[in-house]
Amino acid sequence: MTRSGIGYDAHRLVAGRALILGGVQIPHSLGLDGHSDADVLCHAIADALLGAIGENDIGHHFPNTDEGIRGISSLAILARVRQILVEKEARVVNVDATLIAEAPKIGPHLPAMRAAISSALQLPVDRISIKATTNEGLGTIGRSEGMAAMAVASVEQN
Ligand code: MG
Repeated sequence: MTRSGIGYDAHRLVAGRALILGGVQIPHSLGLDGHSDADVLCHAIADALLGAIGENDIGHHFPNTDEGIRGISSLAILARVRQILVEKEARVVNVDATLIAEAPKIGPHLPAMRAAISSALQLPVDRISIKATTNEGLGTIGRSEGMAAMAVASVEQN
């Protein structure tokens, strides 16, 4: 059986935090705020994968009240999500994600992001699509108050 899942996430941009997207640290004046490394792209992908197998969401598995995971790399979250899929006899078919951010330019970092996610999910790079768009200056994301990401994932499950 093939199943699909959808994921969405958003985080605020603040000063004094590193900007981590798709597992890659990107030079920027602001970073995303959160309990983990706040990698909004990996969080959307994690929720898409969990959704595809009917699991509880990322907030259930990685609660922001758990001090033991403060600052956790979201690549580690993805690796754990993959393990949950393995336990449920599910294999990732593909992941497609879109980052919505006004700045910085994401294009140069996309190959590194795909490679990092590929490694975390143990999935070939050609099954991982990462895209980026701006919000054309509209709304909170347009004012660079934060970033959002959405993702879909397909899995095969026995
Ligand atoms: Mg998040």
